[in-house]
Amino acid sequence: MTATPMLVNLSRLHFPVSSLGYGQRVAVWFQGCSLQCPGCVSQDTWEHGLGTMPLEGLVEQIARWSDTADGLTVSGGEPFEQPGALRELLLWWRQQQGGDVLVFSGLSWELLQSTYPDILALIDVLVSDPFEAGAGQTLPLRGSDNQRLHCLTPLGQERYRQIPDERVLDVCLDGDKVWLAGIPRPGDLAKLRSQLQGLGLELSTSDQAGCMP
Ligand code: SF4
Repeated sequence: MTATPMLVNLSRLHFPVSSLGYGQRVAVWFQGCSLQCPGCVSQDTWEHGLGTMPLEGLVEQIARWSDTADGLTVSGGEPFEQPGALRELLLWWRQQQGGDVLVFSGLSWELLQSTYPDILALIDVLVSDPFEAGAGQTLPLRGSDNQRLHCLTPLGQERYRQIPDERVLDVCLDGDKVWLAGIPRPGDLAKLRSQLQGLGLELSTSDQAGCMP
C-alpha cells in the first residue's frame, strides 16, 4: 500500500527575508488560524484548507535556498494547527543544515510545552502568545508586548538574546502587487498603503503584527 503523502496548507514562501530573524532567511507562512486575535493584520491567513500542497513539494522549493540561508522562519497563520507538517518540515531542516529555526505562534508557551514538546525540541527560538492590540508594540520580533520570546538552544541564545530593534521590512514585488514581510510599527502600514494606492499599487501583508513580530 502506498503511504499517503503529507500535505501542508501554505500561505506564502520567500527567500531571502531579513526582517524575521537572524540574517538572510527562508520564511514560510502556514495557512490557517482559528485564534482570530482582534486586530490581526494577517487575516488572509485565517481560512483553513487553502494553498494545499504536498510537504515534499515545499521541501523541494526550500532546498534551492537552504545552502545559503542563515535560518528558517515559520509563521502564519498558526503553524501549530498543522503539527504533523510542522514537525516534518523542521525535522527535514535539521537534517539539511545548521541554520537556526524561529517559529511564531499565537498559542501560549504553557500549552505548547504540554502539547508539543517534540516540536519545541526542533526549534531554536519561539515567539509565543496571541496578539493583543492594546499591549503596546515596543519589543523586537514581537507584534505586541505581551508576547514572549523563548531562546530554546545555545544557538538561539547566541543569535537572539540581544536583538537590535531595527524594524526592517522586506518588500517584494509580485506583478501589480507589493508584498510586505516584517513587523511594522503602529500606523506604518496605513501610511504605506495610502502612498502605494497613490501609485496605483495594492499592498498585501504577511507581517506578524499578530503572531509575533
Ligand atoms: S495574530 Fe497570528 S495567531 Fe492571532 S489571529 Fe492573526 S495569524 Fe492567528
